[in-house]
Amino acid sequence: MYKRQPLVGAEPEEVVVGNSITVNIHTLVGTFLDELLAGNGPDREGVPAADGEWTPDGDPEADPAVLVNELDFPSDHYAIRAQLRQRGIDPDEKLRVVPSRDGRTIDPRDIEAALAEHDDVGIVFMPTALYRSGQLFDVPRIAKAAHEAGAYAGFDAAHSAGAVPHEFDEAGVDFAVWCTYKYLNAGPGSIGALFVAERHHGLAPALAGWWGHEKATQFEMNMTYTPADSAGAWQIGTPPLLSAAPLEGAAELLREAGIRRVRKKSLALTDFLIALVDERLPAVSVGTPRGHASRGGHVALEHPEAERLSEALRDRGVVVDFRPPNVVRVCPAAPYTSFADVLEVVDEIEAILDSGAHEAYATSEGGVT
Ligand SMILES: *Cc1c(COP(=O)(O)O)cnc(C)c1O
Repeated sequence: MYKRQPLVGAEPEEVVVGNSITVNIHTLVGTFLDELLAGNGPDREGVPAADGEWTPDGDPEADPAVLVNELDFPSDHYAIRAQLRQRGIDPDEKLRVVPSRDGRTIDPRDIEAALAEHDDVGIVFMPTALYRSGQLFDVPRIAKAAHEAGAYAGFDAAHSAGAVPHEFDEAGVDFAVWCTYKYLNAGPGSIGALFVAERHHGLAPALAGWWGHEKATQFEMNMTYTPADSAGAWQIGTPPLLSAAPLEGAAELLREAGIRRVRKKSLALTDFLIALVDERLPAVSVGTPRGHASRGGHVALEHPEAERLSEALRDRGVVVDFRPPNVVRVCPAAPYTSFADVLEVVDEIEAILDSGAHEAYATSEGGVT
């Protein structure tokens, strides 16, 4: 029998692999928008800003909004906008975007302020960690604020699942999505994953398919769709097995290491990296929050020539990501990165910047200057 899911803090029937993050956002945000439009959303009695329940009466003012933030991974907004549009809801009106004060992070008070200001938010959909700066969000705080405003709380845990322990059940999270090709180490293009709280099992998924059918009768091939009574209802078609198989070994490795130990080493690695950058790289600044409670698993190094620097690092065997306009994302994945590796990365950056070696590289805007 499957055991409780330690990575996200959930019961086994609340978690399933399938699809990709983007597809899972489509089906889950779609499902919960349908619930809101049917008048089945969270209780809004006593929500100061709201005057009752959602009214699916065609009045645009009554349509539910989805609250996201300015620094999200773009695919999440594309998917949510499409789901709003498909229900006749104008995304320009109803995708409500929390602004960033500093271009790097989102202040949780601004999420709470947006909920106080707008009484139409039906879903708060936030990342657990930002893909560019690596800011870690306070999931319980955001879930609580969403629920107090009569909204569902959904999360994209792409940048924390496998790096930071979560307690989705305890925090009251309604649904979540993540991938297995970042900190879960299952390899490029590996299968997506999702969480749906048990209290929502039995809902009709927005994107229905035979793989989400009640499992015991799936192969009876009934024309009538009966959703599985588990998160498995949000699977859609046949899972890509060759993209799912590596997860078995990768998950076993994490299980053996223990997510809390992984997190401890990850923080020690990023502490070490930040200290070295502060000490040795005056031209580079750290764009990641320094407090442990608000730092995910990677460090954003900011430099005006970030793209060229990333290319030069790759040529020296250091795999980093360039994130426009000025971020080199360095991710010392705890299970297989050593402190000596971190030191070597800083040595390489220092050598590149001191010698100007990065200046020989082209940027995506073209031309070698
Ligand atoms: C990596 C990532 C994605 C990618 O989505 P796929 O559908 O798996 O390609 C989406 N959202 C966030 C926040 C990510 O970090």
